[in-house]
Amino acid sequence: MQSLWRDDEAADYRGDLAQRVYTSRLLGRDKSLVLHGGGNTSVKIRERNLVGDEEDILYVKGSGWDLEFIEEAGFSPVRMAHLLKLAKLKALSDPQMVNELVTHMTRASAPAPSVETILHALLPHKYVDHTHSDAVLAVTNTADGPHRITEIYGDKVAVIPYIMPGFDLARLCAGLLPEQSGKNTIGMVLLNHGIFSFGATARESYERMIQLVDMAERYLEKHRAWHLQPAAGAVPPTTQPAEIAALRKSISQCAGSPMIVATLQNSRTLAFVRRADVATVSQQGPATPDHVIRTKRLPMAGRDVEKYAQSYQAYFAQNTQQGKEPKTMLDAAPRVVLDAGLGLCTVGRTVKDAAIVADLYTHTMDVIERSTLLGGYKALPARDIFDVEYWDLEQAKLRKAGKPPLFAGEVALVTGAASGIGKACVDALLARGAAVLGLDIDGKITTLHKRQDFLGIRCDITSREAVIAALASAVCAYGGLDILILNAGVFPGGTKISALDDDAWRKVMGINLDANLMLMRECHGLLKLAPRGGRVAVIGSKNVPAPGPGAAAYSASKAALTQLARVAALEWGADNIRVNTLHPNAVFDTGIWSDEILSSRAAHYGHSVEQYKKNNVLQTEITSRDIAELAAETCGPLFAKTTGAQIPVDGGNERVI
Ligand code: ZN
Repeated sequence: MQSLWRDDEAADYRGDLAQRVYTSRLLGRDKSLVLHGGGNTSVKIRERNLVGDEEDILYVKGSGWDLEFIEEAGFSPVRMAHLLKLAKLKALSDPQMVNELVTHMTRASAPAPSVETILHALLPHKYVDHTHSDAVLAVTNTADGPHRITEIYGDKVAVIPYIMPGFDLARLCAGLLPEQSGKNTIGMVLLNHGIFSFGATARESYERMIQLVDMAERYLEKHRAWHLQPAAGAVPPTTQPAEIAALRKSISQCAGSPMIVATLQNSRTLAFVRRADVATVSQQGPATPDHVIRTKRLPMAGRDVEKYAQSYQAYFAQNTQQGKEPKTMLDAAPRVVLDAGLGLCTVGRTVKDAAIVADLYTHTMDVIERSTLLGGYKALPARDIFDVEYWDLEQAKLRKAGKPPLFAGEVALVTGAASGIGKACVDALLARGAAVLGLDIDGKITTLHKRQDFLGIRCDITSREAVIAALASAVCAYGGLDILILNAGVFPGGTKISALDDDAWRKVMGINLDANLMLMRECHGLLKLAPRGGRVAVIGSKNVPAPGPGAAAYSASKAALTQLARVAALEWGADNIRVNTLHPNAVFDTGIWSDEILSSRAAHYGHSVEQYKKNNVLQTEITSRDIAELAAETCGPLFAKTTGAQIPVDGGNERVI
């Protein structure tokens, strides 16, 4: 491991706090040191306050900030004098401690200080850095971890036995550090947890961290426990969408709400899940308490969710009997699944959560494999892990969490998603918390949104192979399919039947009708496995109840599509899949309607453009967003008992009414 410090970069960060920002970001850049808000750093600064008094302030990383992207505002300024007084108390509960930290800051808008704040205050050094380095954990999480740490570091570090983060840990470190400190001491190893370094400058503290971690890496290398090879001859699996969707359904039922399941099938994860000893090495526990909340206590090996839930309930019952305070059991569903056929699957209420679990577990795999090469991975006893998983502070966070969005944990597919009504449907679904697969023949779909919960794939929906491949990608990324919005369609220019040639007719039928039949058929198996039941919204047309001359192919295709949707509603009701159709009219904010075409059509009817747009009973303009919002709502609980319906969204049409 090498220092990323650069004098030219560092020169842009002027002042003690700015230097703290710079080296915190350097730590955050290395994912083998800290991940997703893990780790913390601090600096002690003497300041003059508003009334002219000098005070020592501890600037410590605030919760909710990631070291990689932290700014000065991400550090919570806490008064040192009060922290040192608190440290003298015999006991301090976590909720009390959080209250004391928050009420002794000098900036009301600052984030809540880290739970390791008092520990930072007690260390008699200006700068303090703390990480959960993979290499250090690989050494400490072994049976003879403490001896190995002494062998590596000698008197360079103090060694602190495991204790839960918080007040007691701060007290323990404050007691042990002076006993173990000498002139060579530059850090502190917390067994089964992580490592601290400290120094007089930001650079010194940071580079000591790098030096200490590098020593652990070299030790692992010397013991042939550093380089990890993917298993030779590992055969990559072919994704089985139906198997993943079935697993997601069981997990969602166990969790009590729909969950995202992300599947990772690279050579590293496959090598790990196919280890002969995976059932034992994976069942020892997490590498550091920092991972427990998101990954849960243990991964599920295989796919038996019911068995996993039973063992989780037993673990909860056993540990609460011994505990003093009553706890509310979290859902018993796994967050990590290791399956020889599927690879590594990670579970979360959102795509982001599932991705975080994937990152954490990928690093856990490295730690486990290296510890195993050193002689055996050994995590904390279940009781210690339980204390972290059911920490007061975490339980309080859960109580505070608001109502989830309507489609949280659900997955939707929208066709014709790059523009017009389809694009608006993507927005409506994302806004309601769904992960969305957008398909379009236009390549701009791939860059429509840059976010983890959107997957844009260029796809000709008349190609079965292309649709199947796109579905497989979505299931691999998100775990299944809950909502299908059939929107893609073409509207050719006005042609009378007398002039309508066969090819033009077939082209319209091919896209507006045949492709949708194929899509429905290919999606049916997945929709059947939707945890809350599948939902289909079909974008029809006012032309179905009220056709116009010159649009024979379009009107006939949409009429046939509507009939197809009605039959699907009948056939799929028993599978708990609802199918409803919307009939929009005169939606002019789509790609087809340029200003020129609009004014020429308006002129044709002797209207102004304004009048032409609002030519309906309610005299109102219909937008893509109007259609999309209603399409999304038909997939929500308001329409839970409606299927086979046809709903006009046309401002009221005299020929339809
Ligand atoms: Zn920590």
